[in-house]
Amino acid sequence: MSGPRYNRTRRQDQRLVAFECQSCDYVSFPDEKRTCKRCGDAPATFEEVQLAERGEIQTFVVQEYLPDDIEVPQPLAIVDLPQADGSGESARVYGLLTETELEELSVGTEVVARFRELFDDGERPINSFKFSVPREVKR
Ligand SMILES: [Zn+2]
Repeated sequence: MSGPRYNRTRRQDQRLVAFECQSCDYVSFPDEKRTCKRCGDAPATFEEVQLAERGEIQTFVVQEYLPDDIEVPQPLAIVDLPQADGSGESARVYGLLTETELEELSVGTEVVARFRELFDDGERPINSFKFSVPREVKR
């Protein structure tokens, strides 16, 4: 089905909202938690922060053995996304890597986060983050 991709950019931006603990600066993503995972503050006071869409691979794993209908190899990465305004700590985000050659992957590789349809379970699309090595040459 094709339809208007209305507000895709804006909605994607909204997906890059994280929550910074006001006691210890820990950045929680994707959800705002009642208790801070780092300092244990409860109830914690979190403030919304906007994340940049580009970050750095901290670690990754390449999945080779998956059910038959899932394409392999399938790399998964943990990526640190800095805050959009450059302040505070980064959020640690977990997601699939796509459109990326395995040879391009290493710790420290810059990747861009995209909110995408991962697959369709037959009834509804399953959406999540994907990361890929940026292709555009312009800055
Ligand atoms: Zn905290």
